[in-house]
Amino acid sequence: MNQFTYTRVSTKDTAIAALAKDKTAMFLAGGTNLIDLMKSGVTSPERLVDINALPLATIEETKTGLRIGALAKNSVVAEDKLILKHFPLLSQALSAGASPQLRNMATVGGNMMQRTRCHYFYDLALPCNKRQPGRGCGALGGFNRMHAIFGTSELCIAVHPSDMCVALTALDATVLIAGPKGERTIPFGEFHRLPGTTPEKDNTLQRGELIMAVDIPFNKLADHAHYLKVRDRASYAFALVSVGAALDISGGNIREARLAMGGVAHKPWRLTEAEAVLKGQPATEDTFRKAAEAAMKGARSFGGNDFKLTLAPNTIVEALKTASGRV
Ligand code: SF4
Repeated sequence: MNQFTYTRVSTKDTAIAALAKDKTAMFLAGGTNLIDLMKSGVTSPERLVDINALPLATIEETKTGLRIGALAKNSVVAEDKLILKHFPLLSQALSAGASPQLRNMATVGGNMMQRTRCHYFYDLALPCNKRQPGRGCGALGGFNRMHAIFGTSELCIAVHPSDMCVALTALDATVLIAGPKGERTIPFGEFHRLPGTTPEKDNTLQRGELIMAVDIPFNKLADHAHYLKVRDRASYAFALVSVGAALDISGGNIREARLAMGGVAHKPWRLTEAEAVLKGQPATEDTFRKAAEAAMKGARSFGGNDFKLTLAPNTIVEALKTASGRV
């Protein structure tokens, strides 16, 4: 690990100013991914700006929904009464991620900023365009069992590893950001990005910007929500495929549907076409199967992950069945 300096800040403005002073500086929150990246030499900041003292760990009710501070711990959010009441999908997704110890350390903002778990990205001896642009992508013709089937490019087929972000995408959250030019908001679905020709960029955050909070608008989806994660082990494993499903059902018909997938793309993958298929239809397995077919349009596999073309639609159907109560 490279030597680095450590600065602890307690206000938003000093945090932003500290990052602006040093081009290699990075914010440190829970550190559950960043420290691994530093130990393996993937990331080498010369300064860490510890933001844990900032007052950004609350969960508050606003006029239109809930605001979750960027430093709220994953375990605290998962068990919060307001979250359980209004957004059980988020609670389920958080509880499906990592391990209890990691959830006790990891923050909401850090969860959003975590990087892909592609093995080639973490091994400095192997080619990876995300770690070293222009070096090639080892996963394209190599071991790609965990990799993407949607939104890939010729340069990168990695997936975003978060469960929490899948739920926040489905729930139409927005991200509040502060930076040298002031505050702005980004729809959650636009925070992460596809690899395109610049796979080294995971998200649309600008240099020096700080995630302040995530806002989730109230909805009528809490009674029929389910997060289904398919993985190699029952716990402490990243998703092969995951589905966040939330439905508003009245009289057996679906009034509104929200669906997003994890483990299939460089960003949490919102299933808008499938949502349109579900809307206004009876909550039956036949409807769910049609929605899953719509969701799979444009999917492409790379050998090791061919099984996801079957696993993904089946996971969508199972998640919808459980969310609707038709199991
Ligand atoms: Fe690197 Fe992306 Fe290829 Fe993995 S899939 S080796 S992260 S470029």
